[in-house]
Amino acid sequence: AAGAERIDFVFKVVLIGDAAVGKSQILARFARNEFTIDSKATIGVEFQTRTVVIDHKSVKAQIWDTAGQERYRAVTSAYYRGAVGAMLVYDITKRQSFDHIARWLEELRGHADKNIVIMLVGNKSDLEEQRAVPVEDAKEFAQREGLFFLETSALQATNVETAFLTVLTEIFNIV
Ligand code: GDP
Repeated sequence: AAGAERIDFVFKVVLIGDAAVGKSQILARFARNEFTIDSKATIGVEFQTRTVVIDHKSVKAQIWDTAGQERYRAVTSAYYRGAVGAMLVYDITKRQSFDHIARWLEELRGHADKNIVIMLVGNKSDLEEQRAVPVEDAKEFAQREGLFFLETSALQATNVETAFLTVLTEIFNIV
């Protein structure tokens, strides 16, 4: 490594949502620009980082993935501690994953800081022919709850960058 990189801010962002909606692939896409077909869930909380520049400041995003624990309802308060941003992810082809969003939001609001910046993310937008959640339903929900909203495809790298940069910039603007 050639010298210490200067970090001005570290922002913790958590990924939440049902299993298999694509959280770890969204993280892999943002942190490493990678995508793995048929990825397996790993057990145990983990995070990855990526440093971006916002307004000439170096911002390290520390992004946490539940890594399979959502299956066992074992996402603990430690996971949410210190989080300043959250990606609330559902799968546009799985209605149930969207119906569970209200519960995830409740859990998030119960554990996280009240100023946390939240993005509702409808992932797998590349599977339009299997769509089970109309964009309008998600838009209405997001508007009602005061959340940002975007549809993404981790597979095609659509909007993943924009989703994270929107959240990080909003956090940056309120700290
Ligand atoms: P997690 O359990 O929420 O972390 O979900 P994963 O990231 O492990 O993804 C679950 C499955 O959905 C895997 O087979 C992924 O390859 C697939 N997947 C994730 N993102 C996308 C996407 O944007 N489009 C498509 N078509 N498949 C995806």
